[in-house]
Amino acid sequence: MTQSAKVSINRSTASPNRIHGLGPRTLLFCIAALLLITASVYAVLNHELQQQASTHTETLLREKASALGSSVQSEISASPVYYHWGSMQSAQDTTHWPGACSMASSAQETKLVTLKCIDQIVTVLETELVNPNGSTRTITLWAQEAPIKAFEGIGLQDLLGMGFLVLLIAILASVWISRSIVRPLRTVAEGAMKMSQGDYNFRLANSNIDELNQLSSSFNHMAKTLQERETLIRCTAYKDQLTGLNNRAYLTLALRERIDKAREPLTILTWGIDNLDGINEVLGHEVAEKVLVKAARKSRRLCKDNIVIARMEGHVYCVVLPTSLYQSNQNRKWLQRLMQGSVRVGGYMFDIHSHGGVAQYPQNGDHPEHLLRRAEIARQLAKKTGQSVIHFEPRMETRSAHRLELIAELKNAINNQEFCLHYQPKLNLRTNTINQAEVLLRWNHPTRGMIAPGGFIELAEQTGMIREITRWVMTEVYSQTALCQRQNMRLSMNLSALDLEDENLLSFVSTLHQKNPQAAKFITLEITESAAMRDPDHALEILNQLSDMGFQIAIDDFGTGYSSLSYLKRFPVTELKIDRSLVQGADLDTDSQIILESTIQMGHIMGLLVTTEGVEHDGEFDVVRKLGVDYVQGFWLSRPMPYDEFRLKHLVGNHDQLTQPI
Ligand code: C2E
Ligand code: CA
Ligand code: CA
Repeated sequence: MTQSAKVSINRSTASPNRIHGLGPRTLLFCIAALLLITASVYAVLNHELQQQASTHTETLLREKASALGSSVQSEISASPVYYHWGSMQSAQDTTHWPGACSMASSAQETKLVTLKCIDQIVTVLETELVNPNGSTRTITLWAQEAPIKAFEGIGLQDLLGMGFLVLLIAILASVWISRSIVRPLRTVAEGAMKMSQGDYNFRLANSNIDELNQLSSSFNHMAKTLQERETLIRCTAYKDQLTGLNNRAYLTLALRERIDKAREPLTILTWGIDNLDGINEVLGHEVAEKVLVKAARKSRRLCKDNIVIARMEGHVYCVVLPTSLYQSNQNRKWLQRLMQGSVRVGGYMFDIHSHGGVAQYPQNGDHPEHLLRRAEIARQLAKKTGQSVIHFEPRMETRSAHRLELIAELKNAINNQEFCLHYQPKLNLRTNTINQAEVLLRWNHPTRGMIAPGGFIELAEQTGMIREITRWVMTEVYSQTALCQRQNMRLSMNLSALDLEDENLLSFVSTLHQKNPQAAKFITLEITESAAMRDPDHALEILNQLSDMGFQIAIDDFGTGYSSLSYLKRFPVTELKIDRSLVQGADLDTDSQIILESTIQMGHIMGLLVTTEGVEHDGEFDVVRKLGVDYVQGFWLSRPMPYDEFRLKHLVGNHDQLTQPI
């Protein structure tokens, strides 16, 4: 797939075929509607006919009553009307009164009652007749008739005919509805479905029904707007604004599509410009950004059509390419050119230092996010171990899961009192006494046992927990200075780069200092040169204040960084601790010895006390002593030990503080 190739989103969608179900449904609907209409017409007609019959019977009864009252015979008397001189109540005992009736309706004012009997409707009228002498008589009259039914006399043939007609009308109606409404609606639904799949080219034809026409034009307008918006979104959502490369979102989609469609083995390589932080610090943000842009351009030039390249975040880039291509010998060179080399920015040439991580589909997973994460895990490891490219292996993931677990446990370590301090003595070669010791942190983990700082300090720094840890160490060191003072023992503790940036550290130290102002004179704070150089001005300010309180400052691990000693001298430093890497082999190799010697001399010229760290055996000790170092620290003298042991050996009784015959 080319970079500009379209990436469609794979969604599980409902099929537009569901709309086909509307045909038979419409037919059923029409039949039901027609049956309902017929039933309603039948009910209305019946009611109307019954009403007419009832009015007719009432008139009949009234005329019969007035005829009986006036003793005038009329034609009406021929009608089947029964009467009884007396109330309706008493009329019910006469022989002509119909049996098994129930009240259908009754009108109080007219005393007219309609009874529903078996196969008959009986209308009863109770009225008063005025005699010629002026007195009144009650008379009850009633007439029987068969219930009137609409469509009476309609035969089976007629019914079948009617049924057929109903069916025919229903079919025609459903065809009409389907043609004029359902089909256009189905097309709209199909269009909506296509749009949901990312195809915005679909347009609806005009219809001769106004409402549908309106719907089509609104739909077409919406599709056009969405198409335009999609183009814009694709540009911004899938492009990295700084470099113009694809971004992580695009890469995830492209990877998904490649895995789904092509199913070819793929290689995912991520790499980062690892020296970008340095460029940023020295030359500023703008130059660093330009380096990123130039590196992106260079990568794009190198990536051919079937390679997807993206900037993931910050200084990390990623390519996805077929594994066959990745494995070809020619591409090994291509890979080197991609990850290494240099770019020119503002007249400077910048070397790019990168470490890469590789994850492969299908071996390392079939989910884009998993593959990218695994490539990242491999990259981090490559960076840490200084290898150029590392291929992901499942055990690496266990390591990163282990890291997460440790972070969670580290949070509780202080509260659970799982930290302790070990003490490593330093031999003063001027006096041949042990009057200094370095305090080294240990994590006494409940299940993993004793963990050295290498296993958690970096995590504590990354998560910011180091601030709290440093406060704990400092409080502990303060609590031991009383005994140390008596034995003339100075303790040194380590500060990390983050501590120098901690705004509140000074106020914390001041509180301790106010309670015990003498203690600082027996404490040395060790900082590495890289920590001091991260923000030198700020570090200078903090270290000056600490120095004013009485603390000694030592530069730790000297010789592992690139900063100049004269620059470091701006800091209120009193001691230089030369890293083990400069001591190691100095007894065997004259070049190493020369470097060590000049470093020791330089320290002395600057007026600093010089300690050599990591002195492990007699040969190394002889050399450093010959070169005039002030303090020796290392396994040759003693390994770091728990407080109780240190106290017994070096604080209680003070056995002249001599451990080794010199
Ligand atoms: P560091 O400050 O350079 O401390 C010296 C490290 O070298 C210690 O490792 C010590 O055990 C080890 N060491 C001493 N003599 C020898 C030797 O002869 N040969 C070899 N190979 N190693 C020797 P540890 O205790 O594992 O500490 C490692 C690092 O962890 C320390 O290096 C320091 O940077 C850091 N660290 C230790 N405690 C603290 C702490 O309380 N706070 C902070 N921020 N960092 C600490
Ligand atoms: Ca140290
Ligand atoms: Ca050190």
